[in-house]
Amino acid sequence: MLAAIVALWRGFVGRCPVCGRGRMFRSFYTLIEGCALCGRRYEGMGNQNTGAMGISVTLTTLLGFIGGFLLVLYVPDQLVLGLVCLFVLLTIFHAIFYRLARGLWIGLLSITGAMDEDERRDEFFL
Ligand SMILES: [Zn+2]
Repeated sequence: MLAAIVALWRGFVGRCPVCGRGRMFRSFYTLIEGCALCGRRYEGMGNQNTGAMGISVTLTTLLGFIGGFLLVLYVPDQLVLGLVCLFVLLTIFHAIFYRLARGLWIGLLSITGAMDEDERRDEFFL
């Protein structure tokens, strides 16, 4: 259990979920193909961005509902301005959190063994 939490945390902060020392991103959004230290591939043939986008969109939508509810509850007379500010904040949040969600998703794939299956599928088809 602790190893799974450590792997998720490493992915969340952009480190290799296996060794914890290698970097996962070349720039803010550009994923490195694999860990330079342990050789773990981060992306196989499958589109693994979908899971990260799912995490990010779900959390952003949840925050949007909470923010909208708080706006209606506390500032109903300035609702349009509040919604514009909320929209801008959620857009910025989503743009930043997507990278973290991508690392988290790769950590999740690593602890479930799904990345190994991707590599075996790559060997089979290539
Ligand atoms: Zn590594």
